[in-house]
Amino acid sequence: MRKILAVFLFLTLSSIILLNFNGWRVYQFKKNSELKISNMEKLILPKVCEDRVWEINLSKNIIYFFENCELKSMMKIAHQSRPGKWYQTPTGYFRLGTKRERHVSSYFNVRMDYAVQLYEDYFIHENPRFLNGRYVTRNFSAGCLSLETDYAKKFYSLAKTGDLVISYLDLDHIQLNDGFFFPVNRQQFYVKQRFNNPLRTRWLYVGNKDNLTYDFIQHSGVDLAPNPNVQDLNVYSIYDGKIARIIKNGQNDYGMGNTVIIEHQINNRAIYSLYAHLSSIRSDLKEGNVIKGGEVVGRVGATGFGCDYWRIERDGCQEKDKLDIHLHWEIKTKPVLSSPKPAQCFINGKQDKCYGYTPDDPINYGYFNPLDILAKK
Ligand SMILES: [Zn+2]
Repeated sequence: MRKILAVFLFLTLSSIILLNFNGWRVYQFKKNSELKISNMEKLILPKVCEDRVWEINLSKNIIYFFENCELKSMMKIAHQSRPGKWYQTPTGYFRLGTKRERHVSSYFNVRMDYAVQLYEDYFIHENPRFLNGRYVTRNFSAGCLSLETDYAKKFYSLAKTGDLVISYLDLDHIQLNDGFFFPVNRQQFYVKQRFNNPLRTRWLYVGNKDNLTYDFIQHSGVDLAPNPNVQDLNVYSIYDGKIARIIKNGQNDYGMGNTVIIEHQINNRAIYSLYAHLSSIRSDLKEGNVIKGGEVVGRVGATGFGCDYWRIERDGCQEKDKLDIHLHWEIKTKPVLSSPKPAQCFINGKQDKCYGYTPDDPINYGYFNPLDILAKK
C-alpha cells in the first residue's frame, strides 16, 4: 500500500515535470504524410495469423494492421515513453479495450482524443492537448502512444475492441560487443517483452483516482519470441563460460521450466546468464562443463509458466500455442532462479517470491539489462 501511495504521489507531483521531459522524441515526421505500403512491405507476415492483428513496432515507431494475414495499413507513432522506466510503453500481447473519441486523462488535465485502450491506463491516442484545444507539447507521454491527428483518426476508425495487439522491438539493429553471441538467431526472433517492462498485477479503479490502487512488477529479463517463419530454434551461450546449473522442468523450477545457468568471467567478475522455458536441454551438457560462446545450450520452448502474468486472458504456457514459445533470458549476479537480492513481489494482492520479475527496477536486485551487456552502445 505504501508503494501504491508513493506511485500515486509520484504521478501527481511529477505531472509538470513529465510534461517537459518524459516524452521520448523518436522521429520527426511530416504532418499528413501518408505511409504507403511498398511491394516489399506487402510480403511482411504478421507475428500471428488471426483475422485482425495489430503490430506495434517500437523500434521503428510504426503500427501495422493485418487483416487475414495481409498487411492492410501502416501508421506512424509520433511519441512513445522513454524506455527503461516503469511507465514505459509496454511490450507484450494485448487485446484492444474501450474506444473513446473524446478522452480526458485520468492523471492530467489534458485531452487525448481518438483514444483506444491498449492495456489498463495505457492508450493509443492523438497527441495530447490542453482542455482549450492547444497541443500540450509534442513530447508528452506517460506510457501511452500518441499519433498525429490524421493517424490517430485512422487508427480509431479501424480499431475494434478485442483485436489482438503485439507490441514488440526489433533485433536487427543491434551490434554485438566482441566475444558475445546472441542467445537466439536474431533474424528469426523479436523482443516480445523487454527488460524492466512494467506489468500490472492488480488494478482497482472505481472512477475516483484518489481511490486508485494498483501493484506492478517489472520484468527481470528479455523475452525473445520466434517469428512465424522461424527455422532455427536453438539457444546459444552468449559468451565463453562454465555450466553453473541445469534445472529440469517440474521439480523446483518455480515456473521457469527447463533452465540452464552459465557462469561467465566478464571484466574480472563472475556474472551469470540464464535461459528459461527451454523445450529441451542439450543432452551432453553437465554442470561444471566448459562451454564456448555461440555453442548450443538447448531449444526455445514453453516449459514452466512464463505466460501467466503478462499474457492477457490466459494462464500458463503451452508448447502448441505459438504465442507462448519464447526464451526468457536473464543476466544476473548469482546462479539462482529467483532474484539475487531478497525481493517480494505483489501478485494479485498477495506477497510472493519473485521469479522473472522484481518489485521495481531489476537493476536494484542484482540483474543487468541483457541487451546492455551484449550490445555496443
Ligand atoms: Zn520473461
